[in-house]
Amino acid sequence: MITRFRGQVTLDGPSGTGKSSVARDVAARLGAAYLDTGAMYRAATVAVLDAGVDLTDPEAVARAVSDAVIEIGTAADAEVVTVDGIDVAVRIRGAEVTRTVSPVSAVPAVRRQLVDRQRSLVAAADAVVVEGRDIGTVVLPDATVKIYLTAAPEARAQRRAGQLGVTDPHKIDEIAADLRRRDEYDSSRTDSPLRPAADAVVVDSTGLDRDAVVDRVLALALSAVGEPA
Ligand code: C5P
Repeated sequence: MITRFRGQVTLDGPSGTGKSSVARDVAARLGAAYLDTGAMYRAATVAVLDAGVDLTDPEAVARAVSDAVIEIGTAADAEVVTVDGIDVAVRIRGAEVTRTVSPVSAVPAVRRQLVDRQRSLVAAADAVVVEGRDIGTVVLPDATVKIYLTAAPEARAQRRAGQLGVTDPHKIDEIAADLRRRDEYDSSRTDSPLRPAADAVVVDSTGLDRDAVVDRVLALALSAVGEPA
């Protein structure tokens, strides 16, 4: 394990680029903590759905999030996500949460709460890999190294289909449409839209396997702290 790295690696980008698996692998290889901010927005969405509030009422949505106790682990090798003490690690990946997470995460008062939590979790770690949409632009503007991971839309839909075990071409088209819808929502929202930070290195994972992307991100992280890869 490489343990020389101290600092923050941010990994932003749209869904289906392999961001989460790359972020976990990089964190493990660096001996760093790992923070999945998407899981936090998904857990917040569970709280909103369970509170039964009107999704078009931003105040009610933000209140449902602040009333809930959301816990998130920062170990690279174990996913811990709870809402009011209940394990939601499986539920947050389901269709209902995936459908609802973008409107919930577009509410500025929800983002403020979660960004505060993200910054304090990051401050508690000497070395950390943080993945999301706005980490390099908003959450950690002074991060040690910023990566924006992207890939061609077809490659992203194929990757997501592979994760879900889907082979039917019609279903793959539906997955592609869902990814486009979520990207469009995340990129066009007023508060913290999805976009690369001016000082981010853009890595295109189209045609690259996971190990190649991990090696590239590791090399960038180590060179940022003056270490050979
Ligand atoms: O990364 P993941 O696909 O789990 O993220 C789910 C959703 O959470 C995204 O589509 C986006 O709406 C929201 N999100 C966000 N800001 C982040 C991370 C995720 O708005 N930093």
